[in-house]
Parts: sequence; structure tokens; C-alpha cells
Amino acid sequence: MNKKRGFVIGRMQPVHNGHIEVIKKTLDEVDEIVIGIGSAQLSHTLKDPFTAGERVMMLTKALNEHNVDPNKYYIIPMEDLQMNAVWVAHVKMMTPPFKKVFSGNSLVQQLFEEEGFEVVRPPLFNRMELSGTEIRKRILTGGNWEELVPNCVATVINGIKGPERIKNLSKKELSDL
Ligand code: NAD
Repeated sequence: MNKKRGFVIGRMQPVHNGHIEVIKKTLDEVDEIVIGIGSAQLSHTLKDPFTAGERVMMLTKALNEHNVDPNKYYIIPMEDLQMNAVWVAHVKMMTPPFKKVFSGNSLVQQLFEEEGFEVVRPPLFNRMELSGTEIRKRILTGGNWEELVPNCVATVINGIKGPERIKNLSKKELSDL
């Protein structure tokens, strides 16, 4: 039997409860899901503080915490390309074949639709709080960010001294202004 496979991509800086919700909902519609960790080349900036490897670790542990069957997903770090027009071909080269794309990002939707893919726009859950921007802001200002991410993601972030990294990056980026 041919498996129905879906594709989701996110920077996941960091992985949060919204990502886990959308992955779980997507798995109600397909047999397997290919999860791209986007902008894999970026780390150690305020907008993209975590490495691709750290984000893989966060996501693997979070899906395990949520009892998602490891036979049902592939996690693939994906570097950005300067050329949007050939990005979908680059993604296809790096991933198991899939037919449906699930994304809330309008550029991702457009690029895949132009290449003939079926694109689903999943609803956003509590987008005011469940966003990487909000979580990074709370980490920087000492707010309660742990409530917005799976427990094991908080453990990974604290274990790699993520809060110290982000605070240090903010000093560096302010001094570069
Ligand atoms: P993101 O982490 O903000 O979001 C990823 C996905 O998670 C979204 O599509 C959305 O569906 C879902 N999501 C996020 N918050 C949610 C919430 N609260 N509730 C439910 N779902 C939620 O990442 P992104 O910015 O969308 O990632 C796109 C990636 O694709 C980036 O890394 C970008 O650089 C890459 N990209 C690269 C190129 C290129 O290289 N030329 C072109 C297009 C996109």
C-alpha cells in the first residue's frame, strides 16, 4: 500500500506546543509526516538562537513525550536557499516523497501551490502566545516561557543554557547597533 505522506516545515525557534498540535492533527490525515527543521544553517542570533541539532533534539523528545509513534515521522534539517523559485525542488531532493503540505506560512503555501502540491492551511492555536517570538521574548525578560513548550523542551533549553545564550546575544546585538 502506498503511504499517504504530509510535509510540515518550521524554524521551530524553539519547538512549542503549537508545533506539536499541528503535527498531531496532521497525523490524523496522513499515514506519515515529514517534518522539516527550517533555516537549519542559522543559530546564535536573537531570532534564531538554537542550532538545527538542538531543535532536532527538542522535537524528537517532545514527540516522544506526546506519545507520537516514531515510525510515523521523519525529522529533516533543511537549509534555506537564496532562490525561492527553486526551493521546492531543494526540499523534494532532501525528503521522502509527499503529496500534501500543511503550512500557516504564506510564502511556503505559495511556493508549493505553484509547483502543483495540495496545500492545507491548519488553524493556529493560541497564536498570541504560541509563537517563537513570544517565547524568545519571555526567555529574554524572565517571563514564564516554560508553560508554552513541552516539558522536555524546557529541559533541553535549560540544559544547553539557552536562557543565558539568549541574554548574551541580546547584549551582543545591542552593542552592534
Ligand atoms: P514556524 O516555526 O513559525 O511555524 C512552522 C509551522 O508551524 C507553521 O507553518 C504553522 O503551520 C505551525 N504553527 C506555528 N505556530 C502555531 C500555532 N500557534 N498553532 C498551530 N500551528 C502553528 O516556522 P516558519 O517561519 O513557518 O518556517 C518556514 C521555514 O521555511 C523557514 O525556515 C523558512 O526560512 C523556510 N523557507 C525557506 C525558503 C528558502 O529557503 N528559499 C522559502 C520558503 C520558506
